[in-house]
Amino acid sequence: MSAERQVAFDAEKEKVMPENRGLHYEENLLWEKEHSEHPGVDLPDAVGLPLRTGLAARGEIGLPQLSEPQVVRHFVRMSTWNYSIDHGFFPLGSCTMKHNPRLNEKVARFAGFAQVHPLQPESSVQGALRVQYELQNWLAELTGLPGVCLTPSAGAHGELAGMMTIARAHALNGQDKRKIVLAPDSSHGTNPATAVMCGYSVRNIPTKETGRLTLEAFKAALYETDPEGADVAGMMVTNPNTCGLFEREIVEIADLLHKAGGYFYCDGANFNALVGKVRPADFGVDVMHINLHKTFSTPHGGGGPGSGPICCSEELAKYMPVPTVVQNEQGYALEWSEDRPESLGALKAYQGQFGMHVRALAYMMSHGADGLRQVSEDAVLNANYILSQLAGDYHVPFAGPCMHECLLTDKKQKDAGVSTLDIAKALIEHGYHPMTVYFPLVLPGTMLIEPTETESKDSLDRFIETMKGIAREATDGESEALHAYPLSTPRRRLDEVKAARQPVLKWAD
Ligand SMILES: *Cc1c(COP(=O)(O)O)cnc(C)c1O
Repeated sequence: MSAERQVAFDAEKEKVMPENRGLHYEENLLWEKEHSEHPGVDLPDAVGLPLRTGLAARGEIGLPQLSEPQVVRHFVRMSTWNYSIDHGFFPLGSCTMKHNPRLNEKVARFAGFAQVHPLQPESSVQGALRVQYELQNWLAELTGLPGVCLTPSAGAHGELAGMMTIARAHALNGQDKRKIVLAPDSSHGTNPATAVMCGYSVRNIPTKETGRLTLEAFKAALYETDPEGADVAGMMVTNPNTCGLFEREIVEIADLLHKAGGYFYCDGANFNALVGKVRPADFGVDVMHINLHKTFSTPHGGGGPGSGPICCSEELAKYMPVPTVVQNEQGYALEWSEDRPESLGALKAYQGQFGMHVRALAYMMSHGADGLRQVSEDAVLNANYILSQLAGDYHVPFAGPCMHECLLTDKKQKDAGVSTLDIAKALIEHGYHPMTVYFPLVLPGTMLIEPTETESKDSLDRFIETMKGIAREATDGESEALHAYPLSTPRRRLDEVKAARQPVLKWAD
């Protein structure tokens, strides 16, 4: 942008936010605030007692002298600088940013759940163990996979647990010469990363022609270096895939994989499109993770904690990590490696993110089986509504209908010099969190939009209008403006590459 335009835009920004006042004014760190004579706490004199260790403080420790309202206001204002699902529509594809019902929060805060300790004797936490047992049963029912381990802390951790389970099964069955894992080129980066962490090499299956796996491409990958596919340990496939499309040939593909002696790991991040409708075991899955924080609506984004249980077939269940909750004559108990010697062992300390387990079970029980089915139907309906409304304005690489998210690209805007990045930044200016950009990697300039079932038609319509307006701006000869957005945020376009390569981790020297 020319210098004059920059000045004009800055002036425009001043109009929107005179002198950058209002809620969004710049403010210092608490440490930099002026020290007042009125601290919010009175420290007792005991602080000055000599310490036996000789480590007594040599001077002021420099804590800011602030009152409670100063501290509260600082953090509340800071919190408004973050966008969240409670602020507005969050179309981030693949992430299932749905509303988190407050009921879940209330239940998770019941003292009997919130204050239990993982080292308490089992007899004193029977209720908590029952929650985990019931959650295992719901997950087994919904996936058709009877072995459930709740311990993984997120989706990627679930992938590790699942692929380690497959590796363990191969190792104990004399199959550890299998060194290859197949994955489509549209797969989430955590899939190949996980396979590599488990000692496998990844063979890509190309999908960019149709956005889907084809039997032909799958066979070529399966038999590439061995006519029987005997060097393949398994495949990692997301279904529906990261283009928002259901894999139509998945049953035949899973059959061929099983005949070759491989296992089917399903990345379950997109389960919101299938929950209550399709049991992944029925299309051949051997093990999958579930992102409780996506499909079963426990808060996520901004650091978690998440929860990524895995569900395994009968055959693989004995190899998965410990512990699991079992029911016996005494009630509920944790089963550890002594009880299940073929298990790969414990993946982490204790029993997983218990608070997330409570929230997920509260969500499942308050929806019921019919409610969960409606969740996926409405999620798919909403995504198709957006796709149908935006198909004239943006390039749709793979014809719909889609599942719970829809894929667009910037191909129609490219000629005017407007890219996916510009469109995402314009969305920020209009008060939205951007969609997922430049993922999946199968095509240039992808935009993945996932509305989820919890958005009203009104909010979808407003989003659609905004997206149409951006497309108009791009082709109206006004595309220059699109390179400058966002104008009215405290920070505008950051040098993201520099931020990643040379992070400044200290506020001041
Ligand atoms: C979110 C996601 C993951 C990883 O899950 P986390 O809980 O973020 O670790 C893996 N695969 C896909 C397709 C996802 O969308």
